[in-house]
Amino acid sequence: MRKIHHFIGGQNQIGTSGRVHNVFDPSSGLVQAEVDLASLDEVNEVVTVAQEAALLWKESSLTQRTQIMFTFREILSARANELAKIVSKEHGKVISDAFGEVSRGIENVEFACGIGQHLKGEINEQVSAGIEVYSLRQPLGVVAGITPFNFPAMVPCWMFATAIASGNTFICKPSERDPSASMLIAEWFKEAGLPDGVFNVLNGDKVAVDGLIDHPGISAISFVGSTPIARYVYERGTQAGKRVQALGGAKNHMLVLPDADIEMAADAAVSAAYGSAGERCMAISAVVAVGSAADEIVEAIASRIPNVKIGPGDAPDSEMGPLITAEHRDKVAAYVTRARDAGAVVVADGADRDLPEAGFFYGPTLLDQVTRDMECYRDEIFGPVLSVVRVATFQEAIALINSNPYGNGTAIFTRDGGAARKFQHEVEVGMVGINVPIPVPVAYHSFGGWKASLFGDAHMYGPEGVRFFTRAKVVTARWPDPGTSSVDLGFPRN
Ligand code: NAD
Repeated sequence: MRKIHHFIGGQNQIGTSGRVHNVFDPSSGLVQAEVDLASLDEVNEVVTVAQEAALLWKESSLTQRTQIMFTFREILSARANELAKIVSKEHGKVISDAFGEVSRGIENVEFACGIGQHLKGEINEQVSAGIEVYSLRQPLGVVAGITPFNFPAMVPCWMFATAIASGNTFICKPSERDPSASMLIAEWFKEAGLPDGVFNVLNGDKVAVDGLIDHPGISAISFVGSTPIARYVYERGTQAGKRVQALGGAKNHMLVLPDADIEMAADAAVSAAYGSAGERCMAISAVVAVGSAADEIVEAIASRIPNVKIGPGDAPDSEMGPLITAEHRDKVAAYVTRARDAGAVVVADGADRDLPEAGFFYGPTLLDQVTRDMECYRDEIFGPVLSVVRVATFQEAIALINSNPYGNGTAIFTRDGGAARKFQHEVEVGMVGINVPIPVPVAYHSFGGWKASLFGDAHMYGPEGVRFFTRAKVVTARWPDPGTSSVDLGFPRN
């Protein structure tokens, strides 16, 4: 059995807690590895190592940090396939999808290669006679990233690239369900010249997460995962005096207007609902069809579903792999059963597909006539289940989306520029696509939802990521002629 340990201070370190978690190959259903789960002693140890490394790392030059980032970027790019294979093997997503994930992660590293531009402060000369005021941004110290199973390579990149380039040391606590991508990244970073202790991987579960949140040596927590845990991490972390950004779950709507190119909209809906078996925080899980668009889009989506090729993540012709665990697959199936009982029309049921016998597979599912009170609409199912909600007007569609507690991503499909402009302006969602179904911003913008999809003030990566992982300092300076000095007890005026 393959064993996955921790990566602390530049070394693989065997866990001492005696607790382990099974890592499955979701395509075969077999356990392929065991990952160590950290104890509080190991939390304390990794923080101490990261604190020691932080003393030196914050004194490293921008040139040194940038050069390491460039070297690391070259290694990642050259070995993207290797990383994608590991992601696919532990997550189950198909190789091309895993490769896409790695590519988007590399974009964050590329952004961090230009960190010098983003750490530039501002200066005002001569604010008063002989006085300058200027601002600096400095690292926080030791920061931690807690990541979900569904993007085991990309989401860590969202966090550590900016954090480390800004001069912090980083502790990554990946999902215990697919931890190997972070371990590989740690080794490659070391190879790129990153000093030991700057990037650490602590594998674990709630014990490790709580330990990191509570530890006084950690200044900031960046979290991505489900909404209940995001809320918990935000509340506990801020109570402990930390800076926290906690990104949660989603229910992403795709609004289809009657004037949309229905074929294009159907292609987009199928890709965005069933890609990665629906296990994406930006997956489309609800189509809101206005008026006459409804019958057309349901038919067009239904006609595409039989063509989606389901199979093991590493099979060259697979388009959709399995779900992450058997429990999760069963949970998704139960949602479909209850949706039928609640009155939804099951146009396609993933359980009826000819699925591989081994592994945690469930086919693409389409539910029509879904209403806002149904559980399948309200909950984030996080599987290949697409609900169609029919509404009479455009305004009703916007009101429906705005009344949803989540606000991660959304998209509109239309040929009407005015309607798209109105949608973009009025919709209460953090990331909006116009004829783009999965509007994940490029690395030099920031990623973040609204409402129950994000707790905290800062979005992830890009300019907001730099602000999150640094703090501002403002300097007021003068170099007077000592001969002009005198005592003045009044409040300084300019
Ligand atoms: P999860 O919340 O179960 O786990 C996320 C992390 O929290 C993991 O590292 C896990 O070990 C830890 N964790 C789990 N339970 C915990 C507990 N009780 N106390 C402390 N820590 C705990 O999420 P997941 O199932 O790994 O990932 C899927 C979820 O993540 C979905 O809801 C998805 O929408 C969301 N997600 C959101 C975004 C975003 O950008 N908003 C991106 C990716 C995934």
